[in-house]
Amino acid sequence: MSDRDFDLFVIGAGSGGVRASRFSAMKGARVAVAEDRFMGGTCVNVGCVPKKLFVYASHFRDEMHDATSGFGWRVDGAAFDWPTLRDNKTREIERLNGIYDGLLESAGVTSIWGRATIVDPHTVEVEGKRYTAENILVATGGWPTVPEIPGRELAVTSNELFHLEQLPKRAIVVGGGYIAVEFACIFDGLGVDVTQLYRGPLFLRGFDDDVRTHLAEQLRGRGIDLRFDTNVTAIAENGAGVRAQLTDGSTLDADLILFATGRHPNVEKLGLEEVGVELGPDRAIKVDEYSRTNVPSIWAIGDVTNRINLTPVALHEGVCLSETLFGGNPRSPDHENVPAAVFSQPPCGTVGLTEAEARVRYGDIDVYRSTFRALKHTLTGGEEKTMMKLIVDRASDKVVGLHMVGPEAGEIVQGFAVAIKAGATKADFDATIGIHPTSAEEFVTMREPVGD
Ligand code: NDP
Repeated sequence: MSDRDFDLFVIGAGSGGVRASRFSAMKGARVAVAEDRFMGGTCVNVGCVPKKLFVYASHFRDEMHDATSGFGWRVDGAAFDWPTLRDNKTREIERLNGIYDGLLESAGVTSIWGRATIVDPHTVEVEGKRYTAENILVATGGWPTVPEIPGRELAVTSNELFHLEQLPKRAIVVGGGYIAVEFACIFDGLGVDVTQLYRGPLFLRGFDDDVRTHLAEQLRGRGIDLRFDTNVTAIAENGAGVRAQLTDGSTLDADLILFATGRHPNVEKLGLEEVGVELGPDRAIKVDEYSRTNVPSIWAIGDVTNRINLTPVALHEGVCLSETLFGGNPRSPDHENVPAAVFSQPPCGTVGLTEAEARVRYGDIDVYRSTFRALKHTLTGGEEKTMMKLIVDRASDKVVGLHMVGPEAGEIVQGFAVAIKAGATKADFDATIGIHPTSAEEFVTMREPVGD
């Protein structure tokens, strides 16, 4: 056994850090984890988990509308109370913080509160105390980026959204990524008047084009004022609210302006550059296929490496790292065919390649697409449309991309992702019997490819 204090010192108790700590400790390693902000990191505290609770909350307006418009229910005196939702959510997050603490403790991990700095390749300092370790793992995640424009301090980011004193009546959401789209829909569902601004011609860059155009239509159909090719150049105070100066020369007033304009790797003041750890041009920590930096005793996983910035990917990277370091089984994370969902309304689910990517990789592809109104809306009169799409490599018949915009897209695509991961062909999809009546059955009943 090494005479150093720990076999592994983890900086950051987020999804990746906690997973790597626990799994390493369960393999017999002596592990410490340092955290200075949130037990459980972004996902548990100001990300996936509270966001999904807000998504649930924001669905009820539609549900009540559908119930009363088509299904014979009467819902009298329905009203929404923001502090109740916010405080119930906070209680649940505090409960989860405790569970994370308990998980670390029961695995035998030493938790240390405070800001950690790497002093040398085997030493970390926290609050003036030094700890030595065979290996150091950096799992410090990311932090919201707000562009350098006048009045930027008047904007909120996803960090503040979860604790707002009041729900705004009018909100401006800037950005066209996951967070912007999800919060535009959450606000809209809670009754806020939403304008979403995106600097490019079509939001959700990187997603399949049909997903992007279809979702844009659905959001506009819900009444979200979605403006593309538009950005904010300055923000000023306007009474209790803000006035945003836009690139088209106009101004826009609101009670709140959210910047969801990306996140950057959280690498500041960690001592990384001082010990020679290489960063990429985006300041993400550069790692090899085993998540090892150029300094052999220092490793990094999760958003701080800016590979695929999703909690389940960080968890997977944490498991692989513990296998590599303490399982006698070097394992590199698999970043192929990672499914993902945007919890918009309606949500999007996706796995595999976009049509554009598949054309580049395979050349000859078949595309199957179906757009329909879900059965439920035959009674509600709702105009929302579901879109499903399969992309098939003609040579091998493999389904190489699967995309959906519609209710429960995340739940549905998670299941299909197993088939894609296992290399399912279109013939396998065709041989699968549908579950009727569902929306998901459409994925196994699309027979005719759309023309090129
Ligand atoms: P994204 O990187 O997804 O999107 C950032 C958006 O901001 C893009 O539309 C980008 O435009 C725009 N943008 C960047 N800089 C500027 C600028 N200076 N002015 C105006 N617009 C700008 O980041 P998010 O913050 O939405 O999310 C961060 C990460 O968190 C995501 O990458 C995702 O991996 C993860 N996440 C996952 C979720 C999920 O799984 N459901 C939910 C929430 C977050 P452009 O496209 O032109 O670059």
